[in-house]
Parts: sequence; C-alpha cells; structure tokens
Amino acid sequence: MRAKNRKRMPRKTIRKNAAWRKVAGVIGAAMFTMAIVAFLLLQPWKQPEEIPESATESLSQGAMLAPGAMLDQTITYLPCGHVVQRRVEAPAEFADLDRKGIENALPEYRVTAFSGKEVTMQRDLNIFCPDHWVLMPDAQGELCIWQNQMGEVMVRVRNLGIVVDDLPESAQNEVRIGKGFSSAEELEGWLEGVDG
Ligand SMILES: [Zn+2]
Repeated sequence: MRAKNRKRMPRKTIRKNAAWRKVAGVIGAAMFTMAIVAFLLLQPWKQPEEIPESATESLSQGAMLAPGAMLDQTITYLPCGHVVQRRVEAPAEFADLDRKGIENALPEYRVTAFSGKEVTMQRDLNIFCPDHWVLMPDAQGELCIWQNQMGEVMVRVRNLGIVVDDLPESAQNEVRIGKGFSSAEELEGWLEGVDG
C-alpha cells in the first residue's frame, strides 16, 4: 500500500487540536501562577533572620590580648583642658582578655580600638594634670597645696594652715573648686595678694 492511501486526519481538525492545546497550555500556566501567588500570599511574612547579639559581639571582639601588649591611654584633664597620652604595657593579668574583658577591667576608660597587640582607650578626669600646683581645701576646710603626681589622683603636698572660711569670699569661691598654678612661686604670689 502506498502512503497516499493512508487515512489522514482532516486539516481543520488538526488545526483545532493545536489551538485547543495552546489554550489549555495558557490556562494551565495561569492556574500554576495563581497557585504560586496564593501560596506566597498565605505565607506569614518572614522577617529576615536577626543575628543574635552575642554573635555580633564575638565578631568585634575576636582577638585576645597577647602578653606584652600595649595600652595606649589618652587622658583629658577637664579643669585645665590638657591632654596627656601615655603608653603602658598591659599588666600580666590582662593577657588573654578580649575587648569586653578589658572594658570590664578598666571601666573608667572608653576603648576606641582593640587588637591583640594594642588597646587604644580614652578617659576624662575632673582634676588638674600633673603640670600644676593646685590650691584647694581638704575635707576639714584647711587650705592645702595639691599635685597630681601619678596622673589619676590629687596628692596633698602641704597643709598651709589657713582656714578657707577666713579668706575673702571671692578667693574662697576660687579655691573651693581648685585653683591651678604653673609653679609654686605663682601660687605663693597669689596667696600673698589675697592675704593682704
Ligand atoms: Zn594641665
């Protein structure tokens, strides 16, 4: 038998089938898309996962202080406005501390940079820097000369045996908050002028 005689589907039917398949395909695709949209809409909105605080902290801490590391300390003395920078070797017990550990060990400082070899820190102190002779009464109200000898605390150098209440009022106001001089001579000169 020759192919010529084979029964063939009428051309119209073929075209109809193709069209139907096309429509079915479009409807199917549309339904699939709607199903996905419905699925997404029904999902509760997912927040981006928050990084636990401990994880971000450990990222910034990372390093531990190595033995022999340096502490770079900047101190601002508020009454005179002088800024002193000093580099000291970290005490042996600071070895293996991380940034948080250093902050806990030296709460008076703000740590501004941290690596295993060096910690940079700052603090403000409400006392004169070591460059001054300071006139100020002690707790008993007696006028004394003070000096910041170690950088962080005022030490009494001499008790002048003068009761602050006996000074003229303007002088009292000046020394009660602490009056700084750049030399002992300057201090004595001021005091003589007040005594009059
Ligand atoms: Zn100063």
